[in-house]
Amino acid sequence: MTHVVTDPCIKCKYTDCVDVCPVDCFREGPEFLIIDPGEGIDCAVCIPEYPVNAIYADADIPGEFSAFLGLNARLSRQWPTISRRVAPSPEAAQWQGKAGKLSGLDPALLAPPT
Ligand code: SF4
Repeated sequence: MTHVVTDPCIKCKYTDCVDVCPVDCFREGPEFLIIDPGEGIDCAVCIPEYPVNAIYADADIPGEFSAFLGLNARLSRQWPTISRRVAPSPEAAQWQGKAGKLSGLDPALLAPPT
């Protein structure tokens, strides 16, 4: 089991969840956060902290967010740790609640390193 950050985090980057994680397993990318599945202890304390309902246990991921299971695992090997809450994206209010944000990202942000 692991926990996974999904589409609602994109372009919002609320980091309330980061402050409560006891093992610092969040990683920060330019447009969203992810969880390192190798570091998490599945305590679930981050789920109610995130204001836009972006974090799910892997068994509970809605179908439209299924790609995020692999993305969290892969990007966790590339993105740095974030261990303290920071200000959300300046565009958070504009993007909060929008659907399908993953498809609008620059593919280079998600490409495996070459
Ligand atoms: S489930 Fe627990 S260990 Fe995993 S990211 Fe959330 S707070 Fe951290």
